Amino acid sequence: MKKAWLIVLTAIVTSWVVLFALSTSPLKNTKTAQQGLLDLRSQDFSSANINLSGQWEFYWSQLLLPGEDVSHRSYASFPSLWNKIEVGGKPLPSVGYATYKLKIILPSSDPLLALRIPDIYSSYRLYINDSLAVENGKPASKKEEAKPFWSERIVLLPQHTDTVNLLLHVANFWHSKGGPHKPVVLGNFEQISRQNKIDWGLDTITTGFILMSSFLFFGLYLFAKNDKPILYFALFCFTYSYRIIGTGPYLFYSLFPGINWFVTLRIEYLSLVLSCACLFQYIRYLYPQEAGKAVVRILLWVSALYSIIILTAPVHFFSGIMPLYLIILFFYLGYAFYIFITAYIHKRNDSDFALLSACIAFILFLFLNLHYFKLAPDMKAMICSGYILFLFLQAIILSSRFAYTLSHAALQAQLGVKAKSEFLSTMSHEIRTPLNAIIGLVHILLKGKPSSSQKDTLEVVLFSANNLLVLVNDILDYSKLEENKMKLEKIDMDLREIGKNIIKGAQSFADSKKIKLEYEFDKDIPEQVLGDPTRITQVITNLVHNAIKFTDEGWVRLSLQAEKVDTQHITITIAVKDSGIGILPDEQQIIFKRFTQADSSTSRKYGGTGLGLAISRKILALYNVELQLNSEGGRGSTFWFTLSFPIVYRKKILSTGSLTGMDKPLQDYTILLAEDNPLNAMIAKTILEDFGAGVELAGNGREAVEKFNAAVHHVIIMDLNMPEMDGFEATKQLRSKGVTVPVIALTATLPAEIAGKIKAAGFTDIIVKPFDPDGLCRTILKYRKGV
Ligand code: ADP
Repeated sequence: MKKAWLIVLTAIVTSWVVLFALSTSPLKNTKTAQQGLLDLRSQDFSSANINLSGQWEFYWSQLLLPGEDVSHRSYASFPSLWNKIEVGGKPLPSVGYATYKLKIILPSSDPLLALRIPDIYSSYRLYINDSLAVENGKPASKKEEAKPFWSERIVLLPQHTDTVNLLLHVANFWHSKGGPHKPVVLGNFEQISRQNKIDWGLDTITTGFILMSSFLFFGLYLFAKNDKPILYFALFCFTYSYRIIGTGPYLFYSLFPGINWFVTLRIEYLSLVLSCACLFQYIRYLYPQEAGKAVVRILLWVSALYSIIILTAPVHFFSGIMPLYLIILFFYLGYAFYIFITAYIHKRNDSDFALLSACIAFILFLFLNLHYFKLAPDMKAMICSGYILFLFLQAIILSSRFAYTLSHAALQAQLGVKAKSEFLSTMSHEIRTPLNAIIGLVHILLKGKPSSSQKDTLEVVLFSANNLLVLVNDILDYSKLEENKMKLEKIDMDLREIGKNIIKGAQSFADSKKIKLEYEFDKDIPEQVLGDPTRITQVITNLVHNAIKFTDEGWVRLSLQAEKVDTQHITITIAVKDSGIGILPDEQQIIFKRFTQADSSTSRKYGGTGLGLAISRKILALYNVELQLNSEGGRGSTFWFTLSFPIVYRKKILSTGSLTGMDKPLQDYTILLAEDNPLNAMIAKTILEDFGAGVELAGNGREAVEKFNAAVHHVIIMDLNMPEMDGFEATKQLRSKGVTVPVIALTATLPAEIAGKIKAAGFTDIIVKPFDPDGLCRTILKYRKGV
């Protein structure tokens, strides 16, 4: 795609260059004036305009009045700056005043004719056949009476006359150049005014284009703040845009005829110096390896010096030293070209486009300077198209740079997120492993008939360890929810049973606070619906737990209310109501945000991290459901949500029964336990043996594969992360050998993250560390087979 663009653009630029070369024909040699007389009787004005160049009558230091006679005639070439005219063997000064005269003899049947008079250094007044035709500034013989101004003017010639006498006053007291430097053009009025309109139109278009580009790049820079090239290119466009309307035919002066020449002249010169400085800063930042910092810096200092001089020195001085700047600039253009070529050789980003644009810029500058030094004609259309091509190529370079920066930033952000989630899952794994040991050991100690004071202490340890576990899980859950990584399951679940278990689980907490725990559910709620039992349990548990936590006396009630039932779906409102401390209206807004609690004293008094509600709300958001709250300070709260579930008409598979009443539920089992961590192995072994099972240990996956004996082992419990051979590989090998006994994975990593891998390896089920002993036992019993 980029290559195609490059080819197309190269073709366009090449044809532009060829067209340019073809149309830069040497200046046409038209009929010239001789001794103040130009005989145009044989001229055909319908086809071409004519420059009134040649020998004009010339009177230095005189402003002759119309009709005023002179005793001695003198001549000078027109247009010509005064310092190029020699009088008495010496060039004239640039400061002074003079009168020019020209008699033109026209063909008898002429159409409506007009003169196009360019700007003249630095003021003029033109009389045609003795009457004042046009004035630009105020030429006078004294500096105090004179006033400079530049603008291009068009004046009509009187019709029905075959002789036209031009009398031109020119005065310059300010600029380092004096006198006329561009030809006065005579031609068909229509043709001249059309040409004038085209020139103005092209200037306006080019200025608009450059100015718009500058705004566009300023805008772009707002979103790519560190990208200096974009800023400098925007600045370059902005400063350069003035050069199009503030020079040449001086469109700006014609638009604002009252403008002060001394101000605009300074802006004109400043715009050149500043735009060149910005352009080189742009190039320097675009190709920092290729552009010599010191070389560019020299130009910056020179430009800064010139800027100060332009702002402070008299016009005569700063306009006099400008050619020197242009010469320096010429060398720098060569240097810029060198930078683009080396960048291209070093295969820098978009250096092909940059080189192409450098070619255009080089030709443009070359041409503008040739024109400035009178070596080439003014060719507006080519220049305008050159500017547009140049800007277009820069736009491609900068946009591609911008897009690259953006995609690079996005990649970095992605990597950051990935690193964060990897960090979180590693940390949670690392924290769960020792937690597993703590919880396991406390369970073992509690089973070993401790004294009542020891039992109290152990229960506190167990409580704290479990709290820590909840916290680790919460943080992990929240980060998963933030990254949109949490997926909801859709499996059979019994909501009434879930409610019952939650209440059962919270009972001891409620009892400890002497709070009545109530549970009510609608009889219409079917036994089985489709949903994610883990996440629904998590949300309700959270709400019930909060309700108990923030209630000092009274009651907490969980209710499941069927709202709407049809054959396919049931809509249920699940509400947790309490008679607790309540939540003030302005606090109700903030408690759903992560890590926020109603007020800062909450965590001191009640504990908690402020993650629970944020997680609950995000989980419900996955169902497109909002967690609602009704509360008044001091009068309790109700948290509720309404969810619709598909109804399942399958028979419920009876889950594992209660273990109560069974002393040694695993007494018929011999279990192969693969676990590399000796402490964890000891804990699991003790727990399993407590349930009556025989346990054989394997230190890693390879040992497990070697030790497994189908005649002896009924179940394999396999840690996942082990040295030498991990649990996945070991299980795969066992399955490939035709082993069919249940293999239960033991892991500190949450199942959702590894579910796919577990399934693929051939595991039967999974137990997450730290495990609760009864849960472990139940899971093993679930797969009772031929024991
Ligand atoms: P935590 O309970 O860990 O502080 P939550 O996100 O679960 O975090 O709750 C945020 C805050 O909302 C709590 O700190 C508390 O101020 C307020 N809150 C939650 N549930 C209740 C409730 N049932 N009664 C009163 N305040 C509550």
